[in-house]
Amino acid sequence: MALSDLNPVERNEEGIAAVLGILKQQFGERFQTGEAIRGQHAHTTTYIPTQAPDGVTFVESTAEVQEVVRACAAHRVPVIAFGVGSSLEGHTNAPGGGISIDTSRMNRILSVNPQDLDCTVEPGVTREDLNRHLRDTGLFFPIDPGANASLGGMAATRASGTNAVRYGTMRENVLSLTAVMADGEAVTTGKRAKKSSAGYDLTRLLVGSEGTLGIITALTLRLQGIPQAISGGVCPFPSLEAACNTVIATIQMGIPVARIELVNALQMRAMKNYSKLDYPESPCLFVEFHGSDAGVAEQAETFGMIAEENDGGPFLWTSVAEERTKLWKARHDAYWSSLTLRPGAKGLSTDVCVPISRLAECVTETETDIAEMGLIAPIVGHAGDGNFHVLVLMDVENPDEIALAEKFVARLNMRAIAMEGTCTGEHGIGQGKVGFLRHELGHGVDVMRTIKQALDPLNIMNPGKILPAAG
Ligand SMILES: Cc1cc2nc3c(=O)[nH]c(=O)nc-3n(C[C@H](O)[C@H](O)[C@H](O)COP(=O)(O)OP(=O)(O)OC[C@H]3O[C@@H](n4cnc5c(N)ncnc54)[C@H](O)[C@@H]3O)c2cc1C
Repeated sequence: MALSDLNPVERNEEGIAAVLGILKQQFGERFQTGEAIRGQHAHTTTYIPTQAPDGVTFVESTAEVQEVVRACAAHRVPVIAFGVGSSLEGHTNAPGGGISIDTSRMNRILSVNPQDLDCTVEPGVTREDLNRHLRDTGLFFPIDPGANASLGGMAATRASGTNAVRYGTMRENVLSLTAVMADGEAVTTGKRAKKSSAGYDLTRLLVGSEGTLGIITALTLRLQGIPQAISGGVCPFPSLEAACNTVIATIQMGIPVARIELVNALQMRAMKNYSKLDYPESPCLFVEFHGSDAGVAEQAETFGMIAEENDGGPFLWTSVAEERTKLWKARHDAYWSSLTLRPGAKGLSTDVCVPISRLAECVTETETDIAEMGLIAPIVGHAGDGNFHVLVLMDVENPDEIALAEKFVARLNMRAIAMEGTCTGEHGIGQGKVGFLRHELGHGVDVMRTIKQALDPLNIMNPGKILPAAG
């Protein structure tokens, strides 16, 4: 049985047929039902089997999202929002069929307010597009998942990335948003004030809701000033423990590190070959500091001393932009470099997060598990947050390999939860992690279900995701 079968959603054939007719009439060429396009809008970046929607609508405004949602609500048909499809846990699959709402044409940057350090964008704007647009303003948007994801998708999955240790995740960086709710009404959750005590925090309810409560049609985001100087480099360590102890000491000393990424020995081998890096095949920390010229030099030197006290080094660092860019490109290409460790294999990418005091223990136990289970599975981590990823390389045509990988992921999730951590620090629940939510949050799942039932009583918003069908 595939993971996606664990949370079945019944198809409403009659309703789907009615909605297909309505949307074809309303959207013409912007409503597509071809097999290839439907497949592309179901899951693309994972081994979880594709469950395609029945049609895809390319919307261009909040009003058009409302039209689609109202038609689907009237006929009890699922609606699944789609950004760029880079999510990793079966998020955009359509287990009960339904309509995919593709937001890629809602890609306007509506306003940039340099004095207030914020901007308002439509959900289909990607993080790289936004940063290109901002380049001449001296501002940037710091959240950087490995993929060039849409900002709507990033808000919906509460994404983060290498910069979160300094700038936070989407939770901290969305000031307010507009969303079309399951009844077709649009709600704006806040204004542009930096903080607010005005009632329930609807922004944070929708951030991380994976399209199960509403479809985001605009977002107001916090921006940051581009730092005057940036320094960074790579430091090798004799063990994962030594690397993790360095991370803890760096953070405890209050060094405002902007990025501190853990890469294990196997991942270093992949990155050396793929990205032509010249570092030892041992656990390494990739670090970056933002500030003034003097500030970043001092931070880098202090970090080097901490690393040395933990038997690490040499710490080679630079302020030269091209050299840093090469390092971080290699780090962002970690997923692609990993695939070269087993040509032809596909990757199951999973993430967990633990308090950083437990990071060394969690990563070391996980490496032992990988070895004992005979898997090829490199590790990279946003170590400053206690968050790490494992990419299990497997032959997706071989059910035994899939079963073994799923067993490994289950053990990893339970290990993180037992260490007072979470089964996902940033990828989200989707279909793949539904079975672990109750273990992590207990009665919290029932409270979530109550919220879902109140806001989406017909269960049309991305059904089969986050919440277990029963239990
Ligand atoms: C190589 C690689 C590296 C990655 N690295 C990271 C990483 O470091 N950190 C990280 O956090 N993630 C990472 N990811 C995962 C992924 O990029 C994020 O989950 C991203 O936020 C998904 O955005 P998207 O536009 O692709 O959304 P999609 O995949 O299109 O959708 C994701 C979910 O959000 C919902 N959704 C999309 N748009 C909207 C909307 N407008 N309103 C409401 N719901 C919506 C969808 O229904 C779905 O449930 C990585 C993925 C890949 C392939």
